[in-house]
Amino acid sequence: MIILVLNSGSSSIKYKLFDIQGDSEKLLDKGLAERIGEKIPAHKEAVNLILNKIGPKIDAVGHRVVHGGDRFSESILIDSHVIKAIEDFVELAPLHNPPSLFTINESRKILSGIPHVAVFDTAFYYDMPEYAYLYAIPYKFYEKYKIRRYGFHGTSHRYVSEQASRLLKRPLNGLRLITCHLGNGCSITAVKNGRAIDTSMGFTPLEGLVMGTRSGDIDPAIIPYIMEKENIDVTAVVEMLNKKSGLLGVSGLTNDMRELMQAKGSNKKVKLALDIFIYRIKKYIGAYTGVMSGCDAIIFTGGIGENNPALIEEICKGVVSKDTKTLMIPTDEELMIARDTYKIAEIRGN
Ligand code: ADP
Repeated sequence: MIILVLNSGSSSIKYKLFDIQGDSEKLLDKGLAERIGEKIPAHKEAVNLILNKIGPKIDAVGHRVVHGGDRFSESILIDSHVIKAIEDFVELAPLHNPPSLFTINESRKILSGIPHVAVFDTAFYYDMPEYAYLYAIPYKFYEKYKIRRYGFHGTSHRYVSEQASRLLKRPLNGLRLITCHLGNGCSITAVKNGRAIDTSMGFTPLEGLVMGTRSGDIDPAIIPYIMEKENIDVTAVVEMLNKKSGLLGVSGLTNDMRELMQAKGSNKKVKLALDIFIYRIKKYIGAYTGVMSGCDAIIFTGGIGENNPALIEEICKGVVSKDTKTLMIPTDEELMIARDTYKIAEIRGN
């Protein structure tokens, strides 16, 4: 079955084309339509460019959708109800869901006779225990506004969990894993018996680990304090926490880990930024090991997690027991999306 996977961001669409037959998975093509809004007018034109390049032979399409809100616990065949739900969750993911919607609508128009499947970043976290996904604020805010921990990067965490189970030759059922997705955005998830039981990103991707430009966890009282002291509004503070904090904010140099690793010997603030980054990960590993009563393997993925053994050794030092395996596994969210799309299309008889 020839499966096209479309991963839409605000200014680019990544694609991969797979041929999947049972356990055989072949990558046929991959690419990127970028600079949407500049070189390419809009997502509509980007989809057309990709489909013209690939040609007509596609059996099913898998779409990455960031936010499935409190509706989707797994990947699903797209119909008008699913589209309506993704539209409803634009409020929760104003930057992420609209590009997916543009791409879904355009590609369904052109490839109308084949199944299109939505794979949600949040779905892996749908079944977390209530005590892990609820915040200790008045319960009415959950009821009125759906304020809860949603978690993100779920497709990546699910993919590397499955790969770890294959590598360890042990079924997911019975494994306690901690998966660390360390890229520009960073998140860490506790996976017990194949299910996410807790994760560091929250209502939005801002919570949790220190990231390239995001602060991760902070005391929320800092927000009104800075607003008052700097005489700035809430939008400016939220922008600062998302775009000017994290590794970039502390180092004052860059959010790029490669550059930071090079500069850490001669620049104190760079060293400090890395120390905070590492310390935060250690704390989460300790916490998740505690709530799972142990950990069989820690998996590192994402641009930083896949390429940086010295940093990973530093993270694991002192917090990982000798029984815990450490694995570096390249993520492949598109392959995970293709696998889900294959399963759903096959059940439908395509
Ligand atoms: P995104 O979250 O945007 O997909 P990536 O997963 O590509 O980002 O990760 C980007 C980060 O990975 C950057 O900080 C980059 O410096 C880092 N990175 C990429 N390759 C290496 C490497 N060989 N060594 C250390 N860090 C790396």
